[in-house]
Amino acid sequence: YDPLASVDPEVAAALDAELDRQRSTLEMIASENFAPVSVLEAQGSVLTNKYAEGYPGRRYYGGCEHVDVTEQLAIDRAKALFGAEHANVQPHSGAQANTAVYFALLQQGDTILGLDLAHGGHLTHGMRLNYSGKTLNVVPYHVSPDDGLVDMDEVAALAAEHRPKMIVAGWSAYPRQLDFAAFREIADSVGALLMVDMAHFAGLVAAGLHPSPVPYADVVTTTTHKTLCGPRGGLILCREPYAKKINSAVFPGMQGGPLEHVIAAKAVALKIAGTEEFRQQQARTLEGARLIAERLMEDDAAKAGVKVLTGGTDVHLVLVDLVDSELTGRDAEDRLHEIGITVNRNAVPNDPRPPMVTSGLRVGTPALATRGFTSDDFTEVADILALALQPSFDAAALSARTRALADKHPLYPGL
Ligand code: PLP
Repeated sequence: YDPLASVDPEVAAALDAELDRQRSTLEMIASENFAPVSVLEAQGSVLTNKYAEGYPGRRYYGGCEHVDVTEQLAIDRAKALFGAEHANVQPHSGAQANTAVYFALLQQGDTILGLDLAHGGHLTHGMRLNYSGKTLNVVPYHVSPDDGLVDMDEVAALAAEHRPKMIVAGWSAYPRQLDFAAFREIADSVGALLMVDMAHFAGLVAAGLHPSPVPYADVVTTTTHKTLCGPRGGLILCREPYAKKINSAVFPGMQGGPLEHVIAAKAVALKIAGTEEFRQQQARTLEGARLIAERLMEDDAAKAGVKVLTGGTDVHLVLVDLVDSELTGRDAEDRLHEIGITVNRNAVPNDPRPPMVTSGLRVGTPALATRGFTSDDFTEVADILALALQPSFDAAALSARTRALADKHPLYPGL
């Protein structure tokens, strides 16, 4: 019962150092966020001690009366927030959620359409080394070379040719909204199921600032830790006729005991996601991304070979195209790291550089918006980014500017 610092000073020191890193730098990885303290509290709670195989009211273990409460709250809040008929809150992660859906609704060897990984899709949408790619017949669709938008004509043509059992819509690196109605129409034209993976934009959907896929899709999956700002985990929403199959694919199909501490934290995050404060946070997220895209399309950036894919953004991230820049994606990531900004390099469609180097950056605003960044702050961030991507840059001056922004918005002041 001794505190962490005395039981394990090495782990405690690493945790302290990580808190310091998060506080003193600008977190701009598009898939990351800062969970509220209330979420951390629920996740770091005694619920981690509890086995609860099964679902609320139908468990294979005794003593589940309190975790039944928290799990039912998470389910009810997920359904209400997204207007879904059924919710499963047990997937340990987004990848588990997607795999459980395939397990529930497909047979090995069935055909799916998914956005190519190199064009912004996720590993679980059919990448060859992923379980999806190894067990399903995957036909990838792409973004158009003309405008960088998902090529719906190609989706329709591939659907007609391959008659997939399921079409997967969703992305990890794409700066625009998908046309869910068009995906539904194509799916219906060939009798396919439609799954939308809204892991990246779920927070925007919850806030009413992005179209919801729920009315169009048979199944919607998400992570709970990106724009949704909850604990690291997954969530499945579906229409009632699929509920039983989805539940039994998650447990006992893929998982044993649910992480009830994480599920309680999901319940808290889903409650927060229904508030006006959350809506404003998501609005600042969008505004920040728009300001960054606009700054990176100004003349000085263009002269340095910096471009913005699709010419802007409708979501929480900007994809920077460095194909014509002397900086590679890796150089740019390293430079930004040097001045206290964390991003990830990212391949652009048809990237001429190798995957470990790349010619792009994915820059996201959710974590900074959560931290309280306003339009003025994002304007300053955008300027710092634009200057850092010039052929030569003043690392000391830009580091001072990022540090000033970090100091202006203290993170987790009570911790
Ligand atoms: N789906 C999409 C679209 C994602 O971007 C991600 C993660 O980046 C996942 C699923 C997987 O989530 P996790 O890392 O929780 O397995």
